[in-house]
Amino acid sequence: MQNYPDDQKLGVLVDAAQDAKKQALAIYSQFNVGAALETADGRIYSGFNIESSSYGLTVCAERVALFKALSEGERAFRRIAVATDTDAFCSPCGACRQVMWDYAPDLDVYLVNRAGKMEKHQLRDLIPHAFDNRMLKVPGKDEGKK
Ligand SMILES: [Zn+2]
Repeated sequence: MQNYPDDQKLGVLVDAAQDAKKQALAIYSQFNVGAALETADGRIYSGFNIESSSYGLTVCAERVALFKALSEGERAFRRIAVATDTDAFCSPCGACRQVMWDYAPDLDVYLVNRAGKMEKHQLRDLIPHAFDNRMLKVPGKDEGKK
């Protein structure tokens, strides 16, 4: 565990992402990713990327962590750490940004490289002009319905 004197819980979150990364089922790409999502009340849900032989069915670490949390009834989230084995800070893919936006628009996103260094972003900066449920309201379509 790295030393995060001002925020020990962040250290726990980063460790959880890095531990998850080691278990990644990146059997085709060898591109291991781990994620750890912290709820508003401090619970942590981790996930790693899970690849399929039908490549398009692969699911990223971020969505695995988020879906685990959602399926356990969690609805309020604070931040997510995403760990990779790259030198660069690897940002979530577009699909993950979209799903995180749908369920956790105020998320802080910590990108963790292989050296354990971090870069912090706001999700809203990673997905500008996002599509979301506000776009699903078609004038006239739902009038008169309850
Ligand atoms: Zn993704």
